[in-house]
Amino acid sequence: MKTFKSILEFQKHFNSEGKCREYLEQQRWSGTPACPFCGSLNVCRFTNGKIFKCREKQCRSKFSATVGTIYENTKIPLTKWFLATYILAVHSKGISSLQLATWLGVTQKTAWHLNHRIRQMLTNNAPELLEGIVEVDESYIGGKESNKHAHKRTVKGGTGNKTMVIGAVERGGKVKTKVIPKTDIANINQTLEEFVKVDSIMVTDEHHAYNKVHLTYTHRTINHREKEYVRKEEDFLIHTNNIEGFWNILKKQINGIHHSVSAKHLQRYCNESAFRYNRRKIFQDERFANALSNCHGTLKYKVLTAEK
Ligand SMILES: [Zn+2]
Repeated sequence: MKTFKSILEFQKHFNSEGKCREYLEQQRWSGTPACPFCGSLNVCRFTNGKIFKCREKQCRSKFSATVGTIYENTKIPLTKWFLATYILAVHSKGISSLQLATWLGVTQKTAWHLNHRIRQMLTNNAPELLEGIVEVDESYIGGKESNKHAHKRTVKGGTGNKTMVIGAVERGGKVKTKVIPKTDIANINQTLEEFVKVDSIMVTDEHHAYNKVHLTYTHRTINHREKEYVRKEEDFLIHTNNIEGFWNILKKQINGIHHSVSAKHLQRYCNESAFRYNRRKIFQDERFANALSNCHGTLKYKVLTAEK
């Protein structure tokens, strides 16, 4: 794929539905179209270039490259989808739906839905386990109590109506996050088992929820309450600076761009931030290709806006 130096260059390249479709077909099928209904490669392309037909007797389905993807049945042109995907996958802080609406010339509601569906694509569907030295920390993210009407305020002081997220980052590697209902031993242990290889070294602060971590991992703690931030041990440093750095990026994104995020959507915002963080060392075009290769599945507006 061509290398783009700017959003403008990207826009110039993917300037027609045909070009976007061709790229999507390539990404999805590597040049050999397969029927999304039965998997057969025995398919033919209609002369309009967009629609395929499955030749299998029992199937005979018609389909295009967007069937079964986030782009299925969309009224928004693929050129706009591609541009929005590029911005979300590449732009260091993401983009607000208001800003995106202006860029794409769509309503803010459309941009909001678009933004969320792309975020869905930025989820890592085949995650590998973290290993080596892994920093773990929890963070409280979300609405400010003081901004809410009195009757909507939940807890006095403390973490208020903020949502808890646990994060783990491999030194020099990737980050993983999970929104959890409560920071307790059970939630922490379950999440860490999903995230981290058994023989790893876990570095956390002194929070009591990490008290059982040593049963599965080699556990080192840094005592923030005693104002201890870095300690040298054996041949590595004990600190949680990397995961704290990630929280800073995430909070800047949420507070600076989206202003507030509801608990039910928070995981998608975490995924978006993690997607970019985990691809910080690769080229922008590759990040776009990575995002696009995850376009399977749909996310309906009704589902997105439904109450939990
Ligand atoms: Zn078929």
